[in-house]
Amino acid sequence: MAPQRFQPLKAGATIGILGGGQLGRMLSQAAAKLGLHCHVYAPEKDSCAFEVVRRATVADYLDKKALDVFARDCDVITYEFENVPAECAAFLKSRKPVLPDPSVLENTQDRLIEKDFIAAQKIAVAPYAPVHSATQLEAAVEKIGLPAVLKTRTLGYDGKGQVMIAKGGDPLAAWRTLKHAPCILEGFIKYEREVSVIAARSHDGKVECFDVTENDHRDHILKVSKVPARVTPALAKDARRIAEKLVKAHDYVGVMGVEMFVVRRGKTRALMVNEIAPRVHNSGHWTLDGASVSQFEQHIRAVAGWPLAKPIRRGRAEMTNLIGAEVYDLGRWLVLPGTSVHLYGKAEARPGRKMGHVTRVFPK
Ligand code: AMP
Repeated sequence: MAPQRFQPLKAGATIGILGGGQLGRMLSQAAAKLGLHCHVYAPEKDSCAFEVVRRATVADYLDKKALDVFARDCDVITYEFENVPAECAAFLKSRKPVLPDPSVLENTQDRLIEKDFIAAQKIAVAPYAPVHSATQLEAAVEKIGLPAVLKTRTLGYDGKGQVMIAKGGDPLAAWRTLKHAPCILEGFIKYEREVSVIAARSHDGKVECFDVTENDHRDHILKVSKVPARVTPALAKDARRIAEKLVKAHDYVGVMGVEMFVVRRGKTRALMVNEIAPRVHNSGHWTLDGASVSQFEQHIRAVAGWPLAKPIRRGRAEMTNLIGAEVYDLGRWLVLPGTSVHLYGKAEARPGRKMGHVTRVFPK
């Protein structure tokens, strides 16, 4: 079947979502608000997005038969996580529109390709070098210096697949802990703070960014996001300009999260991009309660071929992730004025697992 020319979706159409985690769940809830149905495809049978959608498929990402049935049911297909195999995305693209275009996955599944791409846009990144052999590791340490962070090229998230090498540390031992996987060595950045921009781009190339968010991590997992970030208006403008450049460079349709470090340059501050997420992003969850349109609705609008909304922030907002057993300590959040609680319906509160989040909004 040849791919069809993309037409804006009509109410009642079906959006396919690859991935069944909380991002898929919140995307589906946003789609339902707009009168659109979702069909979530995920390999895990207890995926938390399943219970809020019209149809669900439990199958492997490389199960061609299941993918074919899924594609037939959908008018457009998107994803909520970036490690969808390229083969799966290409198979679906030959049947139905897939947005954002799967080419962005090639740029974001591999840290080396991602860094090369960002640097080619003349956007600052931490100094980096590839590591595929002990000789290359030695050369990388020579070039970058220590301390540094060794990261696997693929499949790293929430601090997994990365190890810090201290000044005077043993690079070979660090690489061994990563099972000698292909890596990049990154200079350790003494950043002042971490910020992110959630950008949305529509079919006709219009871009809307949410206000710059400041992010605090604990144990490499996002813990708190606050908006507005404590940055000057000029730096905030620069952060949005960078995000806009990146969505344009990918001819992107949908929502993208761009994580950045704020670094001191004498008396001024500069930005370095750390990572791109080709999907809705945890640091944008505050938009559900703190803005006139959420990142999830913005993504659904974009992939549906609808106009984006101009986001208006409702005040200062603070989002806290409920991680692991923290989800059992809900009482204090439930009684806190101006607080909205979101739980993802996951059965097991394993350590490090994102179980829900709460957002406090302080109206202007
Ligand atoms: P990542 O998986 O690349 O998003 O990294 C997770 C977290 O590790 C980031 O949010 C930072 O807090 C920290 N981190 C990653 N890379 C660096 C770096 N080059 N220098 C300092 N901290 C880093």
